[in-house]
Amino acid sequence: MTLSFDPDSLSLPIGHFIGGRLVPAEGVIDMHRPSDGELYAGCPLADEVLVDRAVETAKKALKASNWGGARPRERTVVLQRWADLIEKEAGTLAKLEALSSTRPVGHLVAGDIAVSAEQIRFFAEFADKEGSDVVPTDDASLGMIMTEPYGVVGAITPWNFPVSMAAWKLGPALAAGNAVVLKPSEMTPFSTIYISELAIRAGLPAGLINIVLGDGPVTGTAITGHPDIAKVSFTGSTGAGSTIMANIARTGVKPMTLELGGKSPQLVFADADLDKAAAAIAQSILSNAGQACVAGSRMIVEESVAARLAEAIVARMKAAKAGPTWDEATEYSPIISKRQLNRIDGIVEAAVAAGGECLFGGRQMDAPGYFYQPTLIAVRDGSSPAITEEIFGPVLTLQTFTDEEEALALADHPTYGLAAGLFTRDLSRALRLTRRLQAGTVWINRYSRSRDHILPTGGYKRSGVGKDLGREAYQANRKSKSVLISL
Ligand code: NAD
Repeated sequence: MTLSFDPDSLSLPIGHFIGGRLVPAEGVIDMHRPSDGELYAGCPLADEVLVDRAVETAKKALKASNWGGARPRERTVVLQRWADLIEKEAGTLAKLEALSSTRPVGHLVAGDIAVSAEQIRFFAEFADKEGSDVVPTDDASLGMIMTEPYGVVGAITPWNFPVSMAAWKLGPALAAGNAVVLKPSEMTPFSTIYISELAIRAGLPAGLINIVLGDGPVTGTAITGHPDIAKVSFTGSTGAGSTIMANIARTGVKPMTLELGGKSPQLVFADADLDKAAAAIAQSILSNAGQACVAGSRMIVEESVAARLAEAIVARMKAAKAGPTWDEATEYSPIISKRQLNRIDGIVEAAVAAGGECLFGGRQMDAPGYFYQPTLIAVRDGSSPAITEEIFGPVLTLQTFTDEEEALALADHPTYGLAAGLFTRDLSRALRLTRRLQAGTVWINRYSRSRDHILPTGGYKRSGVGKDLGREAYQANRKSKSVLISL
């Protein structure tokens, strides 16, 4: 079966998804295909009234279905059926995803979609295994810590891995017994609507997932400030995360999980397996054209091997096969928007003007759509925007060091602490440095998350608050109640 498709052939679910059905709505936010720049659809904009309708629908559905109070295994079974359906419908889902996003269709079925289905199963299995605790007290008492779902969880996701991000939010929230009102990115909403339809087909009571489309300032603000949304789970930029925190503080008090930006370093020592390091580092910046929160965008290399490593990475950059996301052969993604393409250009130009040496790339590609060349810049000035800003594009910087302390000083970023990579054959050094790296994830002699869903992900510093994935993500979707009984 070929996965390649004609981008004009798809029928798109344009509307909100409330109470288990599509609520058609006029598209008002222009949507351009990253692969060819064509204006192809409009995204509707849910206002406060519509968000309120979605929240009311969720509350009623929770009550009518007793989703959070019924035998937990029932949740497990429904969510597992949902994961099966997502896999079965992966072809259709991949097309909807590839059309609007930067994800090549060839990467989606076995990659993003299969992994998302697995993650839903992973969280489904928590529902009837994570229970309350009986805790030590004195002989005359019994102490318990009971947990309960929050009720309606508000979720907001970014455009860079739309299906995965939706699964990260919906999986744990639903498994933990909540209903969800989710706003996907206004640039990539269709695959999220489709998986929500599949959830209803799998037997999820209608109204437990509600998808409202729109932008951050209108729709997002209505979600985070809604008095009946008991918890907010957000993935996106640090700027938006900080605005969301302020809105929550202004409108009430509620827990939040914030998965935010990054500017992750990759430390390479001279004793490392350089081929392995080059493959991992190149993959981390070429994958989705660097549009990943954990992109390892700052390479910090021991001086004696820097030239060799740079050469190996440039060879991989040269081989990146760009193309439209709807072509199965495409390996290298476009940039999400014209605005973002121009922003990348501006940062690279400023870095070069400030003395950076462009070792490869450095320009927009001469192709339809929004493509940027894989780029490697040697930077000496740590205040260059190429070092300080999250570029969210295929731009890798190279800095060099001569000893561990210098490597650590360069790795430390004033704003971000999402992830870090460390390449060395010296295990003591790897563990010594891991202790000191200010990052929520440290990869040693590799740079990828893979399928180990048990490992939570989240940031230090302004890269976030709380964790997605792992047991922590399930627990963050339940609140605890302490009970003390006199015997
Ligand atoms: P963004 O912050 O512009 O938007 C993310 C989502 O938030 C979108 O749905 C948007 O409409 C919404 N939004 C924007 N402003 C809002 C507001 N004031 N109130 C409520 N909602 C608002 O980010 P993006 O460009 O879509 O995604 C890229 C960013 O996401 C990068 O910074 C990247 O590092 C980050 N990201 C982080 C992780 C992680 O796990 N830490 C994962 C993926 C992406």
